[in-house]
Amino acid sequence: MVPIEPPRPELVIALANARVAVEDHMVRADRAGISWREETVSELLWVHAHPYISCADFNRKQENQVGADWLWWWVDGTGECFGLLVQAKRLHHSQSQQPHALLDFGHGDGEQFRRLVSTADRLGVPAAYIVYFGGIEHRYGLSCEADDHTSQCLPCKRRSVSVITSLQAGLLLGGSQRDAATGTFLYSKPLENLVDPDLAARPVQDLNLRNIDMELRKFLLTPQVGARRVAKEVFRMVAEMRMGQFAAAVADRVELEDDAIFTGLPLDRGHFSGPYYPYIMRGLRRRLPDTVQHVLDGKPPPEEFDGVAGLVVVYC
Ligand SMILES: [Zn+2]
Repeated sequence: MVPIEPPRPELVIALANARVAVEDHMVRADRAGISWREETVSELLWVHAHPYISCADFNRKQENQVGADWLWWWVDGTGECFGLLVQAKRLHHSQSQQPHALLDFGHGDGEQFRRLVSTADRLGVPAAYIVYFGGIEHRYGLSCEADDHTSQCLPCKRRSVSVITSLQAGLLLGGSQRDAATGTFLYSKPLENLVDPDLAARPVQDLNLRNIDMELRKFLLTPQVGARRVAKEVFRMVAEMRMGQFAAAVADRVELEDDAIFTGLPLDRGHFSGPYYPYIMRGLRRRLPDTVQHVLDGKPPPEEFDGVAGLVVVYC
């Protein structure tokens, strides 16, 4: 059973501490000329965020699996939860004389991306990437570009561990790996920002605010806690990118079923591959799916979890 505990305002501190630990690993490895791997960094992140994060690894025998997809559930004290299927990606750089940052979402001719998205569709949650940008000294031109940016710049340090949705990554997939790195640095958010109460208090600006139900509008415009806060911050990333696109919003709607908290949602898709409201909001549920609870109770993962490397539960 998932312990039902009160909301933890200190989760943001735990995730920041975990980020500092993995940032240190990436910096030291780069300085030593050791190519650090996504799997190692993910494992370090979870270890350092324990007990706020716990994991069930389904594929212990398949170590070094490239492009493993992990199912994350953010669960709060009310039982409400937000699911995300997450793949880890690290920043690389070109070997040229003036190296620049590269990010490869299209690995394996796009097959890895398609698999992530179709597994997420099957599980009924949004897909996302956790992007490891490494230390500030090894970003090959990526920075906040603020006048007061230094090697200790906090906003840039937070970017060591960032999140971007697959809807956004899908828009970056068609361009070069260099553009994907630049675009991801611009449009992703630090993982710890998803649970930062100060940042999450801000209203979400979105082109479709006038086309949505009052309850959903209130959710986007007022401070949230727990799983709702995480969902709101993930949605904010997509809404901000939508603001930069100029296609007219439409009023067609879709009804979500099951345990979704918000059900009547606009079908506007902007330049994304699909409607962004239902894509994100399908992950926000009143309670954990039975299949997830089943795994947490120590039972073997059901067939639905085929292709999923493991389960990560974050107590938010
Ligand atoms: Zn900076």
